[in-house]
Amino acid sequence: MLISDTLGRPLRNLRISVTDRCNLRCQYCMPEEEYVWLPRGDILHFEEVSALVDVFAELGVDKLRLTGGEPLLRRDLPALVRMLAAKPTIRDLAMTTNGVLLADHAQALFDAGLHRVTISLDTLRPERFRALTRRDSHQKVLDGIEATVRAGFKGLKLDTVVMRGTNDDELVDLIEFGKQVGAEVRFIEYMDVGGATLWSMDTVLSRTAMLELLERHYGPIEPVVEESSAPADRFRLPDETIFGIISSTTAPFCRSCDRSRLTADGMWYLCLYARQGTALREPLRRSASKEELKSLIIPTWQQRRDRGAEERLQIHHRSPLVQIGELRKDPHLEMHTRGG
Ligand code: SAM
Repeated sequence: MLISDTLGRPLRNLRISVTDRCNLRCQYCMPEEEYVWLPRGDILHFEEVSALVDVFAELGVDKLRLTGGEPLLRRDLPALVRMLAAKPTIRDLAMTTNGVLLADHAQALFDAGLHRVTISLDTLRPERFRALTRRDSHQKVLDGIEATVRAGFKGLKLDTVVMRGTNDDELVDLIEFGKQVGAEVRFIEYMDVGGATLWSMDTVLSRTAMLELLERHYGPIEPVVEESSAPADRFRLPDETIFGIISSTTAPFCRSCDRSRLTADGMWYLCLYARQGTALREPLRRSASKEELKSLIIPTWQQRRDRGAEERLQIHHRSPLVQIGELRKDPHLEMHTRGG
């Protein structure tokens, strides 16, 4: 069964956050000193995640992405990967990670059947990494990238959140690094979502500005023409190198968004900007039938009309979506809970 929302968007792509905990404190995501964590008892067991995936898969979901928080902080993650990889209708099983713990886990994840890995890498400079993440793990991330390639993963992607005045002087260096390790680099515009309480429009480097900057260095850049619901628009450099830009802030792609998000405690959100979600843990834990779970999911998706990022674009004096007081009262509004 395939279901679509009011804009004809199919339910295909589920991002699964396996923990809200993270081992970095990136300025654009977790800038505060203290956080309110999800209660441990609420975190879904792997069997529960797997059961929910079965329900979503029957409604058309065939792409999964494990995320967090930092997904590798979840103990025994390869066991979950094995369960999800065994599902015949799942054609894409990926993970987004900050890479800090990857060197220890890349091989086990590959052996368990994970298809693809995206690693967040915002800078090639260790001091800058320390300032941006408030942790000293830059070398571990680089080791993680190497281990991922060595483990046999193909199609590695490196995601960089670009912040004006912070790392906007590293776009060329990052593309060159991507070439060296065989990864496609994707530049993400800094978004005003969740915990980005330090966000301001001045700190956003727009996709247009990124392209101008890169053209000054490389010469003419061509768009790659393709039919895709992927968030990144892809571009080709004169030497054929491909890179992507995810322009959620200045040129959002809500109309082709087929993503939804499951938090580690079983809340289901249709949009990163959504205030409300659908609680799936409680029915799951009282052994609701598949049909009962579907009766929560189907109408919610079919009535979906959100265009969160496009609506934000209409606001003239934009400031962070949520203030710190509200985030403390409801950690589900945080990016590290929603999974990015
Ligand atoms: N810990 C993992 C990681 O670092 O990739 C997965 C979770 S993280 C929340 C997922 C993605 O969200 C990362 O690529 C991160 O850079 C991105 N992200 C977080 N806050 C953001 C913001 N304010 N603007 C744009 N991207 C953001």
